[in-house]
Amino acid sequence: MKIKLITIEDTKKPQINQVLESLKSEKQAAASNGDEEKANNCWRELEALELNILFIKVFHDLKAKNYRQAWDELEQCEIKYGFISNNSTLEYLDTSRLNFIKNKINKFQSLYPYCVFCSPGFKVGYYSCSICGHKFSPRSRCEHKKGKVYNGELCLHEVHDMEMLEISIVTRPVQKYSVMHDDSTLDFTLIERLVSYLDHAFEDWDINWTKMRFPIERFSNVSKDDKCPCKSGETFGACCMDKGYVEIPHVDFIFSKPLPSDAEAITFPY
Ligand SMILES: [Zn+2]
Ligand SMILES: [Zn+2]
Repeated sequence: MKIKLITIEDTKKPQINQVLESLKSEKQAAASNGDEEKANNCWRELEALELNILFIKVFHDLKAKNYRQAWDELEQCEIKYGFISNNSTLEYLDTSRLNFIKNKINKFQSLYPYCVFCSPGFKVGYYSCSICGHKFSPRSRCEHKKGKVYNGELCLHEVHDMEMLEISIVTRPVQKYSVMHDDSTLDFTLIERLVSYLDHAFEDWDINWTKMRFPIERFSNVSKDDKCPCKSGETFGACCMDKGYVEIPHVDFIFSKPLPSDAEAITFPY
């Protein structure tokens, strides 16, 4: 049985739910019969299907301009992809669209204006294995590896007696949920333009970051105390004002289909 899974409407089809449910019960049956290989295969199929659905939600939320929601879903996609790829062949990742999704996750993230995050620091009492319950100590581990699937279950390390110590402000967070911006103050034009030309989540596209050089005369309305248009974060006076030109980060979108000719315009803020 083949079911089309491309749009948000497709994800709501009862057949999709049926497939998810039957994979779950197949996995359980295989696990209780000791058929580890089958249980692991069912786990992989389940995760891959869920990742496809989640990625379609990302696309839907980007179209609807729910950027923060889509950001959180992108992070969930990235984590899910990590666990699946840890337990799959390269061929599987290609044939189940997962590599396509992974590639697009990173590119969507790179188009976000987010740059400041908070990162909590914790003191942990002890960890235990989610598969066998073993309590870890420096000299005592179990045979299970974190991130590997055993009999259809993912091995994670569970944290106990956790105590929050501090919150740091960082630019490259371990987990990307903790965005410290107010979306209403940010510019999402890049993503908005990109998705406006895409019809569905699995249409191919690419981006190419370059720099475009503009003569200094174009910036006569920028004063020396304004932020420099080159996005260095410094003031214009301390940065490019005396250079004769300004190099601005520029992104080209590459689509797999021809676009209407009016879509090829370059947007330039000065
Ligand atoms: Zn264990
Ligand atoms: Zn500059």
